[in-house]
Amino acid sequence: MTSTAQAPGPSTSPPRRRRRTTRSARPRNVAVALAAGVALIAGVVFALRDDGDGGGGGKDAARATAPAALPPDAISATSRPPRPGSPATATGEFITAKSSGAVIGRGSDPRRFKVMVEEGTGVDAKRAAAEISAILADKRGWTSDGKHSFQLVADGPSDFEVKIATPDTVDEICGAVGLDTHGEVNCDAGTQIMVNLKRWNTGSPEFSGPISGYRALIVNHEVGHRIGHGHETCPGKGKRAPVMMQQIYGLKGCAANEWPYSANGRYIEGPAVP
Ligand SMILES: [Zn+2]
Repeated sequence: MTSTAQAPGPSTSPPRRRRRTTRSARPRNVAVALAAGVALIAGVVFALRDDGDGGGGGKDAARATAPAALPPDAISATSRPPRPGSPATATGEFITAKSSGAVIGRGSDPRRFKVMVEEGTGVDAKRAAAEISAILADKRGWTSDGKHSFQLVADGPSDFEVKIATPDTVDEICGAVGLDTHGEVNCDAGTQIMVNLKRWNTGSPEFSGPISGYRALIVNHEVGHRIGHGHETCPGKGKRAPVMMQQIYGLKGCAANEWPYSANGRYIEGPAVP
């Protein structure tokens, strides 16, 4: 998957329910994501690339349709067996976190989101919702620019849903929009950010920090696509990897990083990936 400048791809994303006049091309990526990214592939071949993305809908979807060369080690790197408690399959039914929150961030047009967990995964929906909300509320998160805002909702319309599901369910939902997640990666299918339970529970070999950090990378990367960001790459040896970099495929000399902004509000950027 690649970058920001692409035109919206296949319409896997339903139109946003709420009107927004300031935003232009909303990415409709279907992307995959391993937070750091694994992305995807399309067609027969799959590209596991990043993402952790879901990146928006169309954008990643478009990327996903182009066969991507995937280094074999990138695949193996994502192929760790699940830990006990991370089943490959479950019921296929989702439990929506019955919690709602205040608006996160100062932006005047908050994106409403739900957190849903597949029944049988052992993940507590409410706790996951709290964790995801805290990631979005972090001062190093996307709301740092004062323009973006989010709000957790338990029902009613939503702009996107973060769904944590077993690899089989992720494959099924992502496969329905033409993405092969291969039991390993996340994807963005329409308004659904599909988070592979294996990634949520076990992280990535390219990320040595705590699992909470890797979850932040998944959420920030995918939500980054949702608000229009494409992929970026390492800006230079020893620097922090942009959150929109597909870090799971290697850090290229950068240091792993899960936040879009530094603690003092500077965007941690890198060259756009064409
Ligand atoms: Zn991505």
